Amino acid sequence: MRTAFTAGRLYSPTEEIVSPLLVVEDGRIIAVASRKNKEVPIGVQLVDFGDVVLAPGFLDIHMHGGAGLDVMRAASSELSRLGEFLTTHGVTGYFPTTVAAPLDATCGALERLADAIEAGQAANGDSVQARPLGIHLEGPFLSHKRRGVHPPENLVAPTLEIFERLWQAARGHIRMMTIAPEIPGAMEVIKEAARRGVCVSMGHSDAEFPVAQAAVDAGARHATHTFNAMRPLDHRDPGIIAEVLTDERLSADIIADGIHVAPAVVKLFLQAKGIERAVLITDAISATGMPDGRYQLGPILVDVKDGKCTSNGSLAGSVLTMDRAVRNVTEFAGWNLQNAVRAATLNPARSVGLATERGVLASGMQADFIVLSKQGEVLKTIVRGRGF
Ligand SMILES: [Zn+2]
Repeated sequence: MRTAFTAGRLYSPTEEIVSPLLVVEDGRIIAVASRKNKEVPIGVQLVDFGDVVLAPGFLDIHMHGGAGLDVMRAASSELSRLGEFLTTHGVTGYFPTTVAAPLDATCGALERLADAIEAGQAANGDSVQARPLGIHLEGPFLSHKRRGVHPPENLVAPTLEIFERLWQAARGHIRMMTIAPEIPGAMEVIKEAARRGVCVSMGHSDAEFPVAQAAVDAGARHATHTFNAMRPLDHRDPGIIAEVLTDERLSADIIADGIHVAPAVVKLFLQAKGIERAVLITDAISATGMPDGRYQLGPILVDVKDGKCTSNGSLAGSVLTMDRAVRNVTEFAGWNLQNAVRAATLNPARSVGLATERGVLASGMQADFIVLSKQGEVLKTIVRGRGF
């Protein structure tokens, strides 16, 4: 069964196609072209969305929950509710992200998340929901000095043995790991994780500049919520942030909610990393899409008031949604919608090694795409060719 979609324009996102034709068969994209160059194939249903924008589905590589569900505590069957909620904000794939918890609890969560990932791979039903694609391990290998709200008693020094235990519990589904490179033992774990294809991301770190450089030499390729939970930038003590902003081997992500990082500093970050290496994340917690109140983030209790999440006075994740982050980038930095979309689609896909399947609208890719208004509001989310 083939379906062709058209709209005012399409962001691939590297290319803009006016009056596009996007042809889908069995959940895959089989053609992307301009209607000037390609006719609607005979016998194919044409869906015309009108004068709006088609773009790849958003990918969120740092997400702790939403719709009242915490990814470390939810049963794997409950995650479909989270997946449905995420599609209302244009997200079609995400990395459930852990926080530092007792090792047994973390391993239990990793097993459940691995179940959810494998169930998502096997599913071919009608339900339109964002899928968990891999696990982001945020902790336990974090700096005590820059731990944010991760409980100090749950932080451990990195060893290959503990990494292996986590890896086994997750049945190899760890695709991303945030680690502080300056802790003794970290470099060895960075090397091994990179060797296994994990996107090693520096974060929750007090690293000085040369240590951060050495971590990149060892295989680190990304940075986690740049500026937050990092040794601050100082013009005579450049530290990890100067490395993150200047090294072209690194992509980096940021929480563009206007609360975690001031809008002018979001702009500075976007200028430094550019349209190829800037990545948007939400760091969203279970409270996202819910009223103000008290919520769970792994083992941590978080108070949410007026869009701000805190635990004992420290920022504790966000209630940001990806569509809002994309619109904020157009507002904070004056980026056009196409480039802002890129930071939530192709760039994260490349950072974590998913760009052969997702993050791009091209022939052969999974048919996960969104319909946006010109202002970047999500009008529709299509997953594996379904949901229009
Ligand atoms: Zn987080």
